[in-house]
Amino acid sequence: MSAEIIDGKAIAKELRATLKSEVEELVDDHGITPGLAVVLVGEDPASQVYVRNKHRACERAGIATRDIRMDEDATHQEVMDAVQELNNDPNIHGILVQLPLPDQIDEEEVLNAIDPAKDVDGFHPFNLGMLLSGQPTFVACTPKGVMHMIDEMGIDLTGKEAVIIGRSTIVGKPQALLLLYRHCTVTICHSRTQDLAEHCRNADVLVAAVGRPHMITGDMIKPGATVIDVGINRLEDGSLVGDVDFDSAVEVAGAITPVPGGVGPMTIAMLLRNTVDAARRAAGL
Ligand code: NAD
Repeated sequence: MSAEIIDGKAIAKELRATLKSEVEELVDDHGITPGLAVVLVGEDPASQVYVRNKHRACERAGIATRDIRMDEDATHQEVMDAVQELNNDPNIHGILVQLPLPDQIDEEEVLNAIDPAKDVDGFHPFNLGMLLSGQPTFVACTPKGVMHMIDEMGIDLTGKEAVIIGRSTIVGKPQALLLLYRHCTVTICHSRTQDLAEHCRNADVLVAAVGRPHMITGDMIKPGATVIDVGINRLEDGSLVGDVDFDSAVEVAGAITPVPGGVGPMTIAMLLRNTVDAARRAAGL
């Protein structure tokens, strides 16, 4: 039996349409145009593609964007100053610093300098702490997008075994909390986990967020499980694949996200969601 394909592109499109009308309302009724600033340091080709896609999605939804492009050799202080200027700009409601940053820049310090009320990526310790304490403010876009997809598919989470592979602060850890809040029994696997396959085979919901092509194969998946592939890996032939070996997994899973066209579009849609929410909150709405 072949799994149901979770169409992230279609789910994201629907969400973007909702956001577009929310933005129109904000503009018409309150004179507020949500604004997102993107700081891009250097010439990393993958980052440039991500930033371009984010801009395009913002424009389509009616969100104003501001591009701060800085040279590869920009100093730490220059990046900090750029963030500070955006913190003080009332027309900017969301600030995104595209990662990775060049080595001379202290990434943690830069992310911590973003005003938590404009932290639409949800990476600031304040917003991470709020999530941990069960009072989510801005939640990281990728795990938030995953939850939206699961809900759109009508998948019941209560009491289910959820296994997340990857413990990063931007995906794995917030994903674990979000699934925990929805009453899953959560296991986080990582690079030191012993017998990963055994954990995976126990999962009703399996989220792979590692960055290793095809590492999760069909024999590691519980029949009927929901498989969410966060990984984005570019192969030598230029093609994009996830962490899940789609061809073998699709035969076993109950529902599965493709790469591309799964989690990726949801991440961008959630960035727009967070930016609109930031603009609303800034106006006290
Ligand atoms: P990361 O490098 O910060 O974390 C990777 C995690 O994988 C680590 O916690 C590590 O412990 C774990 N890991 C490494 N090797 C492992 C192994 N052999 N077995 C089990 N776990 C192992 O990466 P990240 O930022 O969390 O991103 C993970 C992947 O998701 C990457 O491919 C990234 O490109 C992708 N990503 C996609 C989106 C999207 O929008 N679709 C967003 C963010 C990240």
